[in-house]
Amino acid sequence: MNKTLQTDLLEIESLLELVKKQGIEYLNKIDERKTSANVHKAELINLDSKGLGARNTLQLFNETFEPTIVSSSGPRFWGYVIGGSTPASIMGDWLATIYDQNPQAINGEGDISANIELETIQLILDLFNLPKSFVGGFVTGATMSNFTCLAVARQWFGKNYGKDFAKEGITEKINVLTATPHSSALKSLALLGIGSNNIIKVNTIEGNREAISIDDLESKIKTLNGQPFILISSAGTVNTVDFDNFNAIKKLKKKYNFWWHTDAAFGGFAACSDTYNHFVKDWGHSDSITIDCHKWLNVPYESAVFLIKEEHSSLQVESFQNSNAPYLGNPMENFNYLNFLPENSRRLKALPAWFSLRAYGKEGYKNIVENAIDLAKYFGSKIKESENFKLLAPVRLNNIVFNISNNRNKENIDSFLTQLNKTGKVFMTPTLYNDQKGIRVSFVNWRTTKNDIELVFKEMNRIINIIE
Ligand SMILES: *Cc1c(COP(=O)(O)O)cnc(C)c1O
Repeated sequence: MNKTLQTDLLEIESLLELVKKQGIEYLNKIDERKTSANVHKAELINLDSKGLGARNTLQLFNETFEPTIVSSSGPRFWGYVIGGSTPASIMGDWLATIYDQNPQAINGEGDISANIELETIQLILDLFNLPKSFVGGFVTGATMSNFTCLAVARQWFGKNYGKDFAKEGITEKINVLTATPHSSALKSLALLGIGSNNIIKVNTIEGNREAISIDDLESKIKTLNGQPFILISSAGTVNTVDFDNFNAIKKLKKKYNFWWHTDAAFGGFAACSDTYNHFVKDWGHSDSITIDCHKWLNVPYESAVFLIKEEHSSLQVESFQNSNAPYLGNPMENFNYLNFLPENSRRLKALPAWFSLRAYGKEGYKNIVENAIDLAKYFGSKIKESENFKLLAPVRLNNIVFNISNNRNKENIDSFLTQLNKTGKVFMTPTLYNDQKGIRVSFVNWRTTKNDIELVFKEMNRIINIIE
């Protein structure tokens, strides 16, 4: 064994103790840590032939990169849709690293940690009140979940023409209908060879809405003259968290032949609350659903699930099987995750989610979700009352899009956002909504409180007065 490795092995306890101490210090001061960092200047460097050993490497990290680490899992990182990490999820994540399993098979004599993943999927289905007729698994994020679901949709499309696209390649024009898809769904269409430009865009409902117009959807369906198609629907658009009418889509499914995919990356969490679950009524009739876990489930990156109806399992296996590896056996008989999703080897991604779900239960998640929505509504009401800012859309769930108000200079929006983010007290992201520039804020972090909103609002008012 290499000498440095041997020394580190002997010192593993004190080394991990150092990391634990540093981690706890970070978490205890997460409120004070900045939400933005100065640009790190990358230097051209080479790797030494003799390593530093783990202890010195930690010191090197602390000198070079640690100061650029921002509190993206803290209470005031409101840009994008960024969740935090619950205490139990951190425990699960640490253990996932230490156990270092490669979850694929569920029985046999090797690693059978895929059973943990299957159980976690059951817990997630129950959390969302979804039927148990879905097969699910963990991927890195909602982008990969959309990709996974749409890959099976692509295979389904080919089957309508008696073709196996996974084996033969795409030979037919694939019809995809959608109104307000997330950029990652379009990226998935690009990766899948369907083409991100090749969508048939359906109108949204009139009147400041991002949800699909069911009338326009049906008229676009009719122009296809009975050809099959893929529908990408939204359970929570990123700007205004709008939801398509799933009850109406369910009825269309009785009349027309299509694959129904629902991107519910974070909006699906409305299902955790009796007050808001009406938004996702009937979404369980989708053929496939995307859920992000590193957003509102508040587990560390990288974590998302795909849910695909069990009846499509053979299409799923056709899409992902390792067809030239006969030693893996018949994929329909010996369940193995590597035949059901893009990656072969994966870490035990389910463990942080399993820990968090078991630790906090349905009530814990109902509280996390409702708290975030209450905060969003509170923030929204403060914007509405403000002389300096105005809402660009009503607050439906947990995201807010706003702008500088009309009695102020709206041209200043970019510099306002830059200055605000520079304070390091809060982080927000720019957006475009109805062709207007705006700022988007998303509440998903379990740590955020009303005090955070008061603090941020003070900063917002201070900065708008400076820049004019
Ligand atoms: C965040 C998001 C995605 C992409 O998720 P990643 O986890 O960043 O890959 C897809 N769809 C929706 C609706 C999202 O909000």
